[in-house]
Amino acid sequence: MVVLKFGGTSVGSAERMKNLVNLIHSPAPKIVVLSAMSGTTNALVEIANALYAKENSKANDLINTLEKRYQAVLTELYSQETTLNKGKELLKNHFDFIRSFTLDMFTANEEKAILAQGELLSTAMEHFYLEEIGIKSVLLPALNFMRIDANDEPDLKYIEENLKLELAKHGETNLFITQGYICRNAFGEIDNLKRGGSDYTATLIGAALTSPEIQIWTDIDGMHNNDPRIVEKTFPVTELSFDEAAELAYFGAKILHPTCVLPAQKRNVPVRLLNTMQPKAQGTVIKESAVTDRITAVAAKDGITAINIKSGRMLLAYGFLRSVFEIFERYKTPIDMITTSEVAVSVTIDSDKNLESIINELREFCTVEVDQNQTIVCVVGSFAAEKQGMAGKIFDSLKNIPLRMISYGGSENNVSVLVDTKYKKDALVALNKGLFNL
Ligand code: ADP
Ligand code: ASP
Ligand code: MG
Repeated sequence: MVVLKFGGTSVGSAERMKNLVNLIHSPAPKIVVLSAMSGTTNALVEIANALYAKENSKANDLINTLEKRYQAVLTELYSQETTLNKGKELLKNHFDFIRSFTLDMFTANEEKAILAQGELLSTAMEHFYLEEIGIKSVLLPALNFMRIDANDEPDLKYIEENLKLELAKHGETNLFITQGYICRNAFGEIDNLKRGGSDYTATLIGAALTSPEIQIWTDIDGMHNNDPRIVEKTFPVTELSFDEAAELAYFGAKILHPTCVLPAQKRNVPVRLLNTMQPKAQGTVIKESAVTDRITAVAAKDGITAINIKSGRMLLAYGFLRSVFEIFERYKTPIDMITTSEVAVSVTIDSDKNLESIINELREFCTVEVDQNQTIVCVVGSFAAEKQGMAGKIFDSLKNIPLRMISYGGSENNVSVLVDTKYKKDALVALNKGLFNL
């Protein structure tokens, strides 16, 4: 069964929800994964923030505004009285639920329940629309099969078993609709796969079913060679290897959730990135690939903190790095980049949640300096070790940019540099010129 995922813009209005039919209505069996309508999850985050701050009247205003937007979509989406009434009932249930938290205690659990409402709404609204125009579909509740474990990692075995059970309940059906992003955690509570997580839902389903293909439909014609939000001239890359796509997603190419390539890669299911607004455009295919010796694309990841750890007593001999890494491990804080010298090591992290505790522990045996507001700029491709000149080209392009860290040789797919975020745009533009002649 093919998996098709449609992002927020692709279901962002009544018109888009209607147009979706052209892309999903065919006899081939398929699972359609939908995100929340664009802007919804951001609005729900804002509501949750107001509730955390006990600003209940602000929360109520935000809820009312969001509900009005949905009411307007309903009247445009449905033409029959019965469907419209079903839609109104749906909105009432979900918005009453969101409103109930203005009267109650508010913790991280309630926040996750609120964040789940966008996908629950969009999928039910599309399902009702299909029903109205006479297309049979089944709404698969993602909360019955999508699950993360105690380490917040997807539990693929559980997902596979329970998804298959859900599908088996509807043997005759060839069109399933399900919610992206939302899941249950190890305690059975409502949780999510982090922002942008609908891509992850799609690749997890595709991997669980070893689908022939996972299609990610979005608002751009595939993975571009550089960040189109920042750099003016970019072009779509027709083919990417799993490794290249995984690096680009992890290092900031927003078109894909940071870790969503991994399940597809694990089961060797190709992922196609396609454009809802231009369905005929070729897009990008991500698959096992033998392409080597090329620079494919550039991406950038903001919000990075660099930590320089110096040991005056030359402790680097052995044991020192282990003591350093153990601290990061204890605080479940992954390290992205690392460079070392005889007396010092620099690492980067993308979460400041436990920064203070980490620094305090490090200071017990070394000198620590911290630089915030850093950006990792990552050049992705297939750099065969014996190939000469790739690094030269990259660093020549960046010759006017102050580089805080350089990471080369860790993998054959990635050369990364760390720059102050204020140099990010200059770095991306310089690489576009130097590597792609744009
Ligand atoms: P969706 O809501 O469909 O999941 P996203 O907004 O998450 O869509 O992802 C699509 C956006 O990703 C594009 O509109 C584009 O601005 C952004 N983007 C960032 N880097 C890239 C890149 N390298 N190639 C294509 N799009 C990118
Ligand atoms: N709706 C969620 C978000 O905005 C998930 C997604 O769109 O992929 O992050
Ligand atoms: Mg997305």
